[in-house]
Amino acid sequence: MARKNTGKYKDLSLEEKKKYHAEYHRIWRDKNKGKTYSREQQWRKDNKDKLNAWYKKYRNNPLNQKNYRAVVKLNVAVRLGKIKRQPCEICDNPKSQGHHPDYSKPLKVNWLCISCHAKLHKKIRAEK
Ligand SMILES: [Zn+2]
Ligand SMILES: [Zn+2]
Repeated sequence: MARKNTGKYKDLSLEEKKKYHAEYHRIWRDKNKGKTYSREQQWRKDNKDKLNAWYKKYRNNPLNQKNYRAVVKLNVAVRLGKIKRQPCEICDNPKSQGHHPDYSKPLKVNWLCISCHAKLHKKIRAEK
């Protein structure tokens, strides 16, 4: 099979994609080797058990299960390239996360950075 390799990620075969990811992670690991943990990472490390317990509780709460599934579905869609991550709608921060105005529509989200997202949820909680 003579297929021209255009070098575009989407044109890669599954095998090539796997290699690409392995290589990408290897470079990332090398680059970050020996780097000290950021404060947040350190906190997460120190509070791993607490966090895991919290996640477990959160996931097992039937009220949250729908929300959790929506988030997972969204993340999968982003990873598969079905949905493109957008910068924060409020401050243009490229590090954004999907906010679900309606958890029954997992792929319909507003893109917000962590801080705008937190502010929005604070507002929503205050309005309730
Ligand atoms: Zn923002
Ligand atoms: Zn949200």
